[in-house]
Amino acid sequence: MTPNALVILLILGTGAGYALLCWVSPFGPCRACDGTGNHTPWTERRAARNGTPVKRRRRIRRPCRRCKGTGARLRVGRRIHNAGRRLHEDGTR
Ligand SMILES: [Zn+2]
Repeated sequence: MTPNALVILLILGTGAGYALLCWVSPFGPCRACDGTGNHTPWTERRAARNGTPVKRRRRIRRPCRRCKGTGARLRVGRRIHNAGRRLHEDGTR
């Protein structure tokens, strides 16, 4: 097996793995709130980036704007799949 064939196989394998992941679990954790569903103020995000310890709140104050408090978001691959399905449905009516 040539090195080129190995690279092509690796890329195809990664793509197939991601497609399988999008099929099995279409929703991933929200990146804005790390799947908690809570809105994080920018002062806490900055403190977390700098590495200083952040005092965690217990109750939910405000839902995350990106995921509307669900803590989940649709994966990019699944979004592309849904757009393709919608296009196909609209085109073959
Ligand atoms: Zn969120």
